[in-house]
Amino acid sequence: MNTAWMTHQISNQFDELENYNLFETDTVLQEILTRYGSQDQARLIEMGKAVGSAEYYDYADLANRHTPILHAFDARGRRKDFIEFHPAWHKWMGLNRQFDTHAYPFNHPNSTSKWVGWAARFYLAGQVECGNLCPNSMTLGSIPLIQREPELWAKIGDKLLSTEYDERDVPISQKKSIWLGMGMTEKQGGSDVRANETIAVPVAESGRGQAYLLTGHKWFFSAPMCDAHLVVAKTEQDGLACFFVPRWLEDGTKNPIHIQRLKEKVGNRSNSSSEVEFKEALGIMIGEAGRGIPTIIEMANYTRLTCSVGSTAMLRQALVQCIAYTRQRKAFGKHLAQQPLMQTVLADLALETEAAMQLSFHLAHCYETDDALSVAWKRVMTPASKFWICKRTVELSGEAMEVFGGNGYVDNGIMARIFKEAPVNTIWEGSGNVMCLDVLRAIQRDPESLEVLFKDLASTAMQDETLKDELQVLFKLLQQAPEELQFMGRSLVSRLVILAQAVLLKRYAPDYVTDGFIQSRYSPFHGRVVGILALQQPEVERLLHRAFAA
Ligand SMILES: Cc1cc2nc3c(=O)[nH]c(=O)nc-3n(C[C@H](O)[C@H](O)[C@H](O)COP(=O)(O)OP(=O)(O)OC[C@H]3O[C@@H](n4cnc5c(N)ncnc54)[C@H](O)[C@@H]3O)c2cc1C
Repeated sequence: MNTAWMTHQISNQFDELENYNLFETDTVLQEILTRYGSQDQARLIEMGKAVGSAEYYDYADLANRHTPILHAFDARGRRKDFIEFHPAWHKWMGLNRQFDTHAYPFNHPNSTSKWVGWAARFYLAGQVECGNLCPNSMTLGSIPLIQREPELWAKIGDKLLSTEYDERDVPISQKKSIWLGMGMTEKQGGSDVRANETIAVPVAESGRGQAYLLTGHKWFFSAPMCDAHLVVAKTEQDGLACFFVPRWLEDGTKNPIHIQRLKEKVGNRSNSSSEVEFKEALGIMIGEAGRGIPTIIEMANYTRLTCSVGSTAMLRQALVQCIAYTRQRKAFGKHLAQQPLMQTVLADLALETEAAMQLSFHLAHCYETDDALSVAWKRVMTPASKFWICKRTVELSGEAMEVFGGNGYVDNGIMARIFKEAPVNTIWEGSGNVMCLDVLRAIQRDPESLEVLFKDLASTAMQDETLKDELQVLFKLLQQAPEELQFMGRSLVSRLVILAQAVLLKRYAPDYVTDGFIQSRYSPFHGRVVGILALQQPEVERLLHRAFAA
């Protein structure tokens, strides 16, 4: 054979990790599920295998490269408002539906680990394909609201809970299962929902359960292929209210919700997000008249939890990919994973990931009950965690990309996808500052919640000098006047989350993880760059072994 043309052979190049079981290789996840009494491991092993298969990594790649296409009109100019998705998107939607990612807690109302079981599903799926999480998250968050509307629930409850995927764009009455989205954000203001201008006029009677016609727009309206959206609009009589707005009307015509265009997004490419106009679209009022914001915020509280779990999933996938790659790739005569400086980067990623996992799953566990302690965690720590975990994922996904060197910056594969996906969780469902303001609002309106939360944190923090000092200083700082508090909002919320993470690690993780976290997170240099740690090499190796033993 003439080999003169062969300039080189491909060596020391490694594909991204796939064909592994995401559940079986995750020690921390297994510990967490056991701790919270989950009995569902066999199903999660199945899910871990499915989402980790080369087939589903491939579907994720395809769904993000072949992005949704809007068909606003048919060939003769009639409105169609149809979104075409690549078959790979439907594979993922089907898989999530099958594993109950959209409704697990409501399909298992008597289980005491239903929210932890849900979080495990969301976390497994989100490691490989995040775009799908958007309709899953919005459907999940809408269920408790619809459950309180008996007439509507009787019509659509079983279709919301169903684990059979039905991708057809037909009226709800013909479907086996349905998805719900949410519409709040308008051009003139997203964070400030009070600025909403879309109007709702009663068809006949007014009030809860009555039909209205909506006229106006939404500037961001994700997953417009959903079978209905919960939309905030203003009534003349009572101000803002929340409406169930179906995609199709019962007479078999489409509700006049005109999709103007799809957003051209940085990441989250598989998922469609749109701009819409309502031209007297039919909506049924849900919740009380004049209580539109609290109604939709209840849904947003669930979707804020889903943002924390979704970003935790991204951190986990970035970490595992980095560990697998550096265990194979060599530079300067050794595997990258054996180079001390690389070990500090990987160990810092591992500490951040475990801290995010402990917090996200503990928070999910608090959604099981409404005792004072769970309520305090939910109210204060849901926005706090959403703020911190989502922000950390933006920074750490960039660092993880660098672990792959030049290969990381090439725009194919999962590392680039995570890097581009990460920022969306910091923005939607309430951006960073809005989350901090929400934490401060919770503290001011309900100081008892803060006391209950701090008492719980103190029961562990008092065993450690660093945490004890931090707890006392932070509690004092949080008692300041509201104007001072707002100015320090980001600092206070960040400190609160790190303290909560340290406490959870101290309760549940091995000493080498907890010590590594506390020493680094309370060092004056931490946070300037990833990899500034005060750990010894053997501890680093144990940390990385715990993170990914495969
Ligand atoms: C991909 C994508 C999909 C989306 N899908 C949906 C959807 O399906 N439904 C929906 O309703 N919305 C959706 N959104 C909208 C999203 O929720 C909003 O963009 C977000 O809440 C911020 O609102 P805004 O864009 O109007 O920004 P603004 O409200 O103008 O905020 C701009 C900045 O100012 C900050 N800020 C606001 N108020 C204060 C304050 N008082 N003090 C200090 N800082 C402040 C914010 O934190 C933010 O950083 C989506 C957004 C994206 C990116």
